[in-house]
Amino acid sequence: MKLIHLYPREMNIYGDTGNVLVLMCRLQWRGLPVEVAPVSVGDPLPHDADILLGGGGQDAAQGEIGADFAGRGAELRAMADDGVVMLTICGTYQMLGHEFVTQEGRRIAGAGVLDVVTHGQAERLIGNNFVDTTDAGRLVGYENHSGLTELGPGVRALGSTQSGRGNNGRDRTEGAVRDNVIGTYLHGPVLAKSPRFADELLRLALARRGSDTDLEPLDDTLAEQAARVAVGRPR
Ligand code: GLN
Repeated sequence: MKLIHLYPREMNIYGDTGNVLVLMCRLQWRGLPVEVAPVSVGDPLPHDADILLGGGGQDAAQGEIGADFAGRGAELRAMADDGVVMLTICGTYQMLGHEFVTQEGRRIAGAGVLDVVTHGQAERLIGNNFVDTTDAGRLVGYENHSGLTELGPGVRALGSTQSGRGNNGRDRTEGAVRDNVIGTYLHGPVLAKSPRFADELLRLALARRGSDTDLEPLDDTLAEQAARVAVGRPR
């Protein structure tokens, strides 16, 4: 498995690099080979990637990588069409959309992979959150964003927000999905307390390779216990 870590320096607030570590460990614990390759501004995007991961970032960081990220739009759309798995968190999620308009009105063009548009505002949506999904059970994390994301017809919601504000604090949707591309506002890192979600991403990537490797079960007692505690925490 080849994992691509997008903009590791610029887009890693709230510990989202942990998602890369969770997938790497869950492959290594099963004796499956894994390579992690960082992609920063100006770096080529390896086309043999199995899973792309991108984390959160301040508006300034999104501006810093904006042109580079949008310039990869055709590549990223082709990879998405080819079924490459992508897990993008908050700022990178926003940048996979058509555009992110900051609260000051600065328009940052997105990669156009996800049919979403985001507009920043003065109020921030902050707090613990958990999301119920049809494909990966309950996801547990927390959100911290000013962006309000509206979903277009080209995506479906990842799930419904249960205790937080989700995409926009209005329609109770959280995240967006198109093919094997997933965006969510859940930081945490989200995969640390959502092991079923982590394995679902690995299954999608293995299936795309035509591998019939079964993922042997892991002892997720600690992660599941942490998720139960986190779900009970006040917003
Ligand atoms: N800067 C974006 C916003 O405020 C994304 C924040 C983040 O990645 N946590 O909405």
